[in-house]
Amino acid sequence: SAMRDERIKKTKTVCTYCGVGCSFDVWTKDRKILKVEPQAEAPANGISTCVKGKFGWDFVNSEDRLTKPLIREGDTFREAEWEEALNLVERKFTEIKSEYGPDSLAFITSSKCTNEESYLMQKLARGVIGTNNVDNCSRYCQSPATVGLFRTVGYGGDSGTIKDIEKAGLVLIVGSNTSESHPVLSTRVKRSHKLRGQKLIVADIRKHEMAERADLFVHPKAGSDMVWLSAVTKYIIDKGWTDHDFIQQRVNGFEKYKKSLEPFTLEYAEEATGITRENLIKIAEAIHEAEGTCVLWAMGVTQHIGGSDTSTAISNLLLVTGNYCKPGAGSYPLRGHNNVQGASDFGSMPDRLPGYERIADEKVRAKYEKGWGVKIPEKPGMNNHEMIEGIHAGVLKAMYVKGEEMGLVDSNINHVHAAYEKLDFFVVQDIFFSATAQYADVVLPASPSFEKEGTFTNTERRIQRLYQVFDPLGESKPDWQIIMEVANRLGAGWNYGHPSEIMEEAASLSPIYAGVRYDRLEGYNTLQWPVNADGTDQPLLFADGTFPLPDGKAILYPVQWSKPIDFGDEYDIHVNNGRLLEHFHEGNLTYRSKGISMKTPEIWLEVSPELAEERGIKDGTLVRLTSPYGNVKVKTLVTDRVQGNEVYLPMNDSGEAAVNLLTSSFSDKDTDTPAYKETMAKMEILKYE
Ligand code: SF4
Repeated sequence: SAMRDERIKKTKTVCTYCGVGCSFDVWTKDRKILKVEPQAEAPANGISTCVKGKFGWDFVNSEDRLTKPLIREGDTFREAEWEEALNLVERKFTEIKSEYGPDSLAFITSSKCTNEESYLMQKLARGVIGTNNVDNCSRYCQSPATVGLFRTVGYGGDSGTIKDIEKAGLVLIVGSNTSESHPVLSTRVKRSHKLRGQKLIVADIRKHEMAERADLFVHPKAGSDMVWLSAVTKYIIDKGWTDHDFIQQRVNGFEKYKKSLEPFTLEYAEEATGITRENLIKIAEAIHEAEGTCVLWAMGVTQHIGGSDTSTAISNLLLVTGNYCKPGAGSYPLRGHNNVQGASDFGSMPDRLPGYERIADEKVRAKYEKGWGVKIPEKPGMNNHEMIEGIHAGVLKAMYVKGEEMGLVDSNINHVHAAYEKLDFFVVQDIFFSATAQYADVVLPASPSFEKEGTFTNTERRIQRLYQVFDPLGESKPDWQIIMEVANRLGAGWNYGHPSEIMEEAASLSPIYAGVRYDRLEGYNTLQWPVNADGTDQPLLFADGTFPLPDGKAILYPVQWSKPIDFGDEYDIHVNNGRLLEHFHEGNLTYRSKGISMKTPEIWLEVSPELAEERGIKDGTLVRLTSPYGNVKVKTLVTDRVQGNEVYLPMNDSGEAAVNLLTSSFSDKDTDTPAYKETMAKMEILKYE
């Protein structure tokens, strides 16, 4: 009937499954999701979505949702009223702060939550508790890319738009499983490769779909990307193929950088990386001949002990060839979560305030102190890796983790769980009773993106609004409201009526978001930072030929190769790890979506035909992998996507096959991003299917 139809509602939202930032309308009737309908005007995706964006939303109404706060009693939990749970948080935070000082508390925000929520979490840590111990999960993925770009070009984001990639003559993909991790972005690359003659080169240790499509696929030895990138750059310089004018006018440090490349001869690179001399030359020639080169990279680059340096090498290569400041060129570190970019943009980092302004800078602190009306601590805080060590060392006593399944996605989780058990007080705020929540003293029920308003910033620095589809389920609440209640109990006196007011405050303090206002982001309108006060934005960074560095010039930043960690000969299997198209991370969301979990109910270990032959493995053989840190049990799939002793374990299991039972606590030397990709194990066969 007509009345029934009136209950049908259409709401614009933004996907929370990856950094592409697809936006679409959701059709609902009461709490039922009728369909997801992408719109042509959606800037990142137009009328496309992938399987997760289209079908991955049942979790919002899952019976497993937390609808009331939980308080630990011995080994179990009981439901509690908000009043009681928040009183407990207030009392314990106050006690611990007065006994051990503000730096005995730590705060983790989520890259799945909104910009406004990240802003409030760091404001709570700094302005209310008085510590810079605040971080987010970009530390697990793209912090090294951010550092590599800050060192060289001054902004840590994609230098152009997703659409601009189509204009490139060459797309070079390094360590990114683009078609599964950033599906809609990959379809744009596939289309321009197929229809417009764009060249595609892929360097990876796994022959994924993009590698199969590539004009040239090279398989470097694991952890050697920095070497071949440097050798290709050296070859280009030696041949005189650099962009002389660009370097002259816009780049500092050329001579010193050129000298640093001396060791990276073709001979050396061939030996160290296993890529043939011919292929190294082919890559250099392709860059030289292309009308613009875009480099896309992800965790295959960043999650190593030299992740920041390899990211730096990519940016150096782009600089010497003049591949910045124009569309169809530049750096594309592909962000994992929907709001990895935004969580860092809004200051949930131990050494930076919103807009990446340094906590160590007295003028910056003074600005925030005036804005917030409180004193801000000067000493940079602990990152999430240091927090775990801090707990083990007895320095850190309490933690507040929001929307982050740290207990599964951090590396070496046996070590992480042992830390959680030592905490005096642990608050976990989530939509599900996560693996992390099992260690909590108080669990606070939050609302997912469909139940709140706010903004996300996607991989191309695009700020987009999401609108509320449903009321919060049960007694759950949007994260920003919960943080505000915690802060106010600790004396903050915050009074935000809507996320737009939080953004207004953040924009007044952070220059790169200066002109961001909700009325400029209505519906499908978006802005790409930096946004000037008058509302003009910058889809293409450095478009005027200057870089946000001291004299407006970019910097060629010499780096050295960090050889992969040696775990000893006993551990002879290299365990590569990453995503699957269908599932999201530990699977808390996607295993609760029927359409997806029916299609892909479990994960498997990819084993090469050579290794299968040698060890007598077939499809479905149950194996155990053991590293120095733990072990997993998983069934195998024999495939030529992987080679030799390199196996691939998707990260999407929360049980016996959780990859982080194997990973170590080694991390990138510049950012502490776990070296997930440097994981070695030994393998034994448990059972044939
Ligand atoms: Fe969501 Fe990414 Fe898929 Fe787009 S490509 S629908 S943002 S998971």
